[in-house]
Amino acid sequence: MRVYADNAATTYLSETAMNTMLDCLKNFNGNPNSLHTDGQKTQEKLDEARETVAQCINAARANEIYFTSGGSEADNQALLSAARGQKAKGKKHLITLNIEHHAILHTMKKLENEGFEVTYLAPESNGIVDVEKVKDAIREDTALVSIMFANNEMGAIQPIPEIGAICKERKVLFHTDAVQAAAHLPIDVQAMNIDMLSMSAHKFHGPKGVGVLYARNGIKLVNVIEGGAQERGKRAGTINVPGNAALAAALKEGCDKLEENTAYVTALRDRLIEGLSDIPHSQLNGDRYKRLPGNVNYSFEGVEGESLLLHLDLYGICCSSGSACTSESLDPSHVLMGMGVPVEAAHGSLRFSLNEENTEEEVDYIIEKVHKVVEHYRSISPFWDELESGERQHCI
Ligand SMILES: *Cc1c(COP(=O)(O)O)cnc(C)c1O
Repeated sequence: MRVYADNAATTYLSETAMNTMLDCLKNFNGNPNSLHTDGQKTQEKLDEARETVAQCINAARANEIYFTSGGSEADNQALLSAARGQKAKGKKHLITLNIEHHAILHTMKKLENEGFEVTYLAPESNGIVDVEKVKDAIREDTALVSIMFANNEMGAIQPIPEIGAICKERKVLFHTDAVQAAAHLPIDVQAMNIDMLSMSAHKFHGPKGVGVLYARNGIKLVNVIEGGAQERGKRAGTINVPGNAALAAALKEGCDKLEENTAYVTALRDRLIEGLSDIPHSQLNGDRYKRLPGNVNYSFEGVEGESLLLHLDLYGICCSSGSACTSESLDPSHVLMGMGVPVEAAHGSLRFSLNEENTEEEVDYIIEKVHKVVEHYRSISPFWDELESGERQHCI
C-alpha cells in the first residue's frame, strides 16, 4: 500500500490544474505583453486568473494580486517592501513569530543586517500566539507585523482577524504567510484587515514554482527581481501563464469545495490523532482543535523522527519529520523548539499532512505501522532502557 501523507510539503497536481496548464501550453503561447492578437489572447487568460485569485480571498481589486515564483518570493517581497518602504519615515521595527517559515525568518535576518530591529514572539505551548503579546510588542516605530496564518509543521492556526484588527487600529502594516491556509481555510483579506498575504500553488494542488503576493492598493512594493515592467512594474520577467492559470484553477476548486473537504479531512485527522493517542510517552504538538484540517504532528519519546520516517517509507507511507526544508539537517525543528517542546520530544516527531485524497483505510494503515515502528525502535534503544529503568526522566 502507498499512502501519501505529506501534503504540507507539497500536493500532487490536480486534474483541473493539469488540464488548465495543458490548455495554456497548447493554445496560449503569445507573450502577454505583446500588443498583437496572440499576445492579447494570453493576456486575457492571465487577467482571468488574476480575477479568480482576487475573488477567492475577497481582494477588492484584481490589480492587488501579483504573481510570483512561489511562497518564498512572496514572503521576501512583502517583508522587504514593508521595511525598506517605511525606513525613511523612521520606522525600523518589525514583529514576527519564532515559528515562521524560513522564507520569513531568513528575510528578517537580512533586514536586521540592514539596521532593522526584529521582535520574535514565541507562541504559547499550543503553538498559538497570545494576541496581547502582539499588541504589547507594537511600538511607535513598528513598520510591520508578519504572522503566519497556519503553521506548516504543527498546524496551529493563528488568531488572524484579531491581529488584523490590532494592526489596523495601531496603523501598522500586517502581512500573513498564508501558504498553508490558502484553499484549506476561509480567507477574506478585507474582513480580516490583511494588508499583504503570500500563497503558493503547490500547497493546494497547483504546480510548483508559482505563487501570489496580495498587496492592498496603496502599499508600495519594492522589486525583488528587476527588469521589465511586468506585474505593474513590481516583478520583472515574462510571466508563467500556464502556471498562474493553473494556480487560479486549483485555488478556485479548493475554495469551492472548502466546507466539504474540511469536514472530510478533519474526520480523518481526528481518527489518526485518536489512533495514535494510546502510544505511551507520546504527545500531539499544536493546538488540538485550532489546527489545519489535515495536520497531525506527534512526538514519540525515545526515538528519532528520521528513523521512524525512513522505516515508514519502507511500508509505503510518505510523511515528514520537521519541515522538508530542514530535513537534511538533524537539528530539532525550530518550530517545536520555539513553542517549548522539550528537545528529546522534538527529535522524535513526525508530521502527517492529510488531504481529501486520503481514506480511512489509509489512516488505519498509518496507525498500525506507527505503533509497530515506534515499538521496534524503542525496543532496540539504550536510551529508552534508561528512561524505563528510571535512570533518566521521561519528558512526556
Ligand atoms: C511551503 C511554504 C513556503 C514556501 O513556499 P514555496 O512556494 O515552496 O516557496 C512558505 N511558507 C510556508 C508556511 C510554507 O509552508
